[in-house]
Amino acid sequence: MNYPEIKLLIDGQWVASEKSIAVINPATEAVVGHIPHASAADIANAIAGAARGLRVWKRMAPAERAAILLKAAQLMRAREARIAHATVLEQGKSLAAAAFEVRRAAAILEWDANQGLRQYGQVVPLGPELRCMVRREPIGVVAGFAPWNAPIGSPMRKIAAALSAGCALILKPAEETPAGAFHIAQALVDAGLPPGVLNVLFGDPGEISRTLVESDGVRMLTFTGSVAVGRQLAQMAAARLKPCLLELGGHAPVIVCADADPVAVARLAVRAKANNTGQICVSPTRFLVAENIFEAFVQAFAEQARAVACGDGLAPDTHIGPLTNARRRQDIERLVDDARTRGARVLCGGERPPGKGYFYPLTVLADVPEGAQVLREEPFGPIAIINRFAQLDDAIAQANALNVGLAAYAFSNNADVQERLAAEIEAGSLAINTFTVSSAETPFGGIKDSGFGREGGAHSLDAYTVIKSVMQASHAQVLA
Ligand code: NAD
Repeated sequence: MNYPEIKLLIDGQWVASEKSIAVINPATEAVVGHIPHASAADIANAIAGAARGLRVWKRMAPAERAAILLKAAQLMRAREARIAHATVLEQGKSLAAAAFEVRRAAAILEWDANQGLRQYGQVVPLGPELRCMVRREPIGVVAGFAPWNAPIGSPMRKIAAALSAGCALILKPAEETPAGAFHIAQALVDAGLPPGVLNVLFGDPGEISRTLVESDGVRMLTFTGSVAVGRQLAQMAAARLKPCLLELGGHAPVIVCADADPVAVARLAVRAKANNTGQICVSPTRFLVAENIFEAFVQAFAEQARAVACGDGLAPDTHIGPLTNARRRQDIERLVDDARTRGARVLCGGERPPGKGYFYPLTVLADVPEGAQVLREEPFGPIAIINRFAQLDDAIAQANALNVGLAAYAFSNNADVQERLAAEIEAGSLAINTFTVSSAETPFGGIKDSGFGREGGAHSLDAYTVIKSVMQASHAQVLA
């Protein structure tokens, strides 16, 4: 299977460009393809096309819109092998993980498409001949920015919600991993999406985001990525009084309580940590383990972690692939070296393997001293930090100590402890006795520096709609 020939999608047309950007396979460091670099004229055409697409799309019946979106989801499922293969080539994750991401993205589109059928309003009775109709309307043209770590699922979060709400979208996926968004766009075009409803641009992220946020034609911004870039975009949007949905970084704590089974939890934890080579904003990272089970947990975790096969995502036995880019690996090495120098125990991993590819093994750091950078800075890679706690109060305080709050995990069979953690952990999502923290059906997003707004769940279209009140009297009258 070849890597696809990727183009920009502008106003229903597939557009090439003179200037291009190389796409690198992180497992081999070889160039797998090139994508077009949007010019200023391409960005302007996307804005104009989106305005035209919006006029058509927002007037279509919700059931007609949903039928197109559901057909696209079906096409994604039918094209799973092709999409997953391209994702492995550009992002590095295992083929099984990429295939799972295709199915998850299709499920997100199906969920949001059906939510689009339920954008109910209200009728507020104000008197015998007077009522107010409260309607939900699409906010307008949306600018979306998606990262490289979940190159199918993350663009889909933006596309599914914006389009299901009746909005048009101009999406800039990560240039490093363009194939997922390209395949989603292709499925939507093949399913009959009208021109201009979805536009996909690659190019200079700063130029594209600045132009879109400053354009009067764009009404809202949705971004998944780093806290630093999220803050920058939010500041630009604030200057133009445009709302944002921001899904930013995390540094997920995992509280393993005294009554948990250390070996069983460690086994689950290694699988969760290895997922996407740790490059996920909800990756379990700061393990806080009760003193009485600490050593048993650390030994079981390290033993399992040593057995995790690291290799090219296309190899059948690969569990973790390479990091997606060279700068990610440099950051991981810096954080491990700093922790080691400060006296952390490195129980496995901790060294870059020789040869090509941005590989780095699953690395377990135990008894990491206060002051180590990795305790504060999200590693966004294959590092597990395992520290101990004496009292639950201390574990909760440590879990809540950072200025991010996206996902958190806890393991205990005690109902009182579970209830206390549910009330006191500061995070957008808490998973108790499981590492599954989000699905199409549940709301997902952060608190504190992890961002605001929610994707998925019953409110997934809220950020993409505005409420309009229509006051309606039965005949012309003077109201009190
Ligand atoms: P980065 O901040 O340079 O880039 C993050 C993403 O934002 C990329 O997709 C990039 O194309 C885009 N971007 C950068 N500048 C932009 C701009 N001015 N306008 C619009 N988009 C812009 O970070 P990185 O080196 O790619 O990743 C570093 C950190 O980002 C990670 O350590 C992690 O903390 C965070 N991250 C978070 C997520 C997430 O799912 N929340 C995903 C990817 C990265």
